[in-house]
Amino acid sequence: MLRYQIIPVTPLQQNCTVFWSPETNRGGIVDPGGDLSLIRNFLSENDITLEKILCTHGHLDHVGAVSELARELSLPVIGPHKDDLFWIEGLPEAAEMYGFQNVETFVPDQWLEDGDKVEAAGVTFDVVHCPGHTPGHVIFYQPDDNVAMVGDVIFQGSIGRTDFPKGDHQQLITSITQKLWPLGQDVTFVPGHGPTSTFGEERRSNPFVSDMALGHVS
Ligand SMILES: [Zn+2]
Ligand SMILES: [Zn+2]
Repeated sequence: MLRYQIIPVTPLQQNCTVFWSPETNRGGIVDPGGDLSLIRNFLSENDITLEKILCTHGHLDHVGAVSELARELSLPVIGPHKDDLFWIEGLPEAAEMYGFQNVETFVPDQWLEDGDKVEAAGVTFDVVHCPGHTPGHVIFYQPDDNVAMVGDVIFQGSIGRTDFPKGDHQQLITSITQKLWPLGQDVTFVPGHGPTSTFGEERRSNPFVSDMALGHVS
């Protein structure tokens, strides 16, 4: 049984997520974008030991604190897909533009591919490559607990922006309908920003990707 806690970080309130096994209090962290003091406090208050850093994609608000946290806790950095290399290499410039402090680029210890599995503290996630918002965006799906960390692919009532370099709206729609929907209606997802939801709820009500909006009413 997986436990997780969302910690909104940075001025963009990005949903950094700490997950752990309650038996061992060991786990991992998805998208530590910034505000390391908030993350450190949560870990120490709950006595959680991290084993890995997982990254959904290379945007500043998701990975801005990866380098510092990895060095501080000697953690391996897993993901995203290599097609987001240009975003990660551009982190210092993006940080300057948005006024983020202490942001460094980094080299992941492992790039991820569609179909990979990532394990931390006995919790295994399926990796699904979902390009569109960024070309190297991946999501992490935990089938036993039926929960997915989806970054900026989809939100409650919305979908990721595609007006960045190498963004592709049609590709994003395809990722959502061909890669996420098959995981099941009852999957709870943690988006990169805002409240959690389920794929089923979005298929009913999301104005961008509901079955009705896409014209396949069932
Ligand atoms: Zn993003
Ligand atoms: Zn974001």
